[in-house]
Parts: sequence; C-alpha cells; structure tokens
Amino acid sequence: MTYTVQIDTRACAAHGDCVDTAPEVFALDDVATVIGTGPDELLLAAAEACPSAAITLIDAGTGEQIYP
Ligand code: SF4
Repeated sequence: MTYTVQIDTRACAAHGDCVDTAPEVFALDDVATVIGTGPDELLLAAAEACPSAAITLIDAGTGEQIYP
C-alpha cells in the first residue's frame, strides 16, 4: 500500500510538526508542502502529529481515504 499525501493549506497553521516528524517528506514555508515521499508508517505518523488535521492520506491504489 502506498499513501498519497494531501495538505489542506487553509487548515495548515505552519506548526511544523510534520516537518519534524518526516523532514524528507514535508517542507515548511508559509504553509507545509510535500517535497518527497516515505514509508506509509512515517506518513501516518506525520499526519497524526499535525495539530490542525491538515494532512490527508489517500490510498494511491484504491483512492480510499486512510486518514483522518
Ligand atoms: S503539522 Fe500540520 S499545521 Fe503544522 S505545518 Fe504540518 S501540515 Fe501544517
């Protein structure tokens, strides 16, 4: 399974927790952006770390929303 990462830029409050959790996946400017990919477990940890619930994970194979 491979997750696709989406960031709701309107919800992102630039806390940076996602960057702290997965610096190879996220970068922070005014809002977070996706700059790479990583293991599903890491993507899920980053999504769960976001205080604004701005990170959505989609199963790239089925289109099913995995998180939140
Ligand atoms: S943790 Fe959430 S609110 Fe903070 S920068 Fe990342 S996406 Fe934005």
